[in-house]
Amino acid sequence: MATTKSKSSAPAKKTGRSFAGKSTQQPTFSEGSMLEEFMVESLKDIYWAEKHLTKALPKMQKAATSPQLKDAFGQHLEITKTQISRLEQAFEMLGKKAQAKKCDAMEGLTKEAEGIIEETEKGTMTRDVALIMAAQKVEHYEIATYGGLKQLATTMGNQELSSLMDETLTEEKEADQMLTSLAENNINTEAAEEEA
Ligand code: FE
Ligand code: FE
Ligand code: ZN
Ligand code: FE
Repeated sequence: MATTKSKSSAPAKKTGRSFAGKSTQQPTFSEGSMLEEFMVESLKDIYWAEKHLTKALPKMQKAATSPQLKDAFGQHLEITKTQISRLEQAFEMLGKKAQAKKCDAMEGLTKEAEGIIEETEKGTMTRDVALIMAAQKVEHYEIATYGGLKQLATTMGNQELSSLMDETLTEEKEADQMLTSLAENNINTEAAEEEA
């Protein structure tokens, strides 16, 4: 039962909202601001996107040729589940109910990935090259989103939320780098030897 919560003596009302406790700066974030509304809408969008990705990743894993890429997709599926609960924490920090709102971008990106599976030949490295590119487009969308959310949270004086977004941002960058190294060692060169 090791809990490390050491709150200051100030009587903390449980309002479901929390401004970064450690920040010495006055938060510029006010409840009901347009920026806060935009933040919440952005969280709903990426919440939908991450959930949608948990359905797409198993298909991509199944379609991949190399065991390395299958593993990478499997790993990222588990990480994505963690990211979903992190988003639920974010809603909680803002005193909002976790709610998903359709992300047209993620829908499109995963449709492209499914198209690639149809258009490439099963068991080829060319399919893996194409899947890696599709997955990297997803990662880049997520990197842009979490990078923005992190910065926004900082602007609003919510350092706790900013750190939470940064954790996911780091994971998305790692996933992107992992995909790059798979392509470089040596999926791309193996694909280059495949005849049409
Ligand atoms: Fe993600
Ligand atoms: Fe979106
Ligand atoms: Zn993208
Ligand atoms: Fe990701």
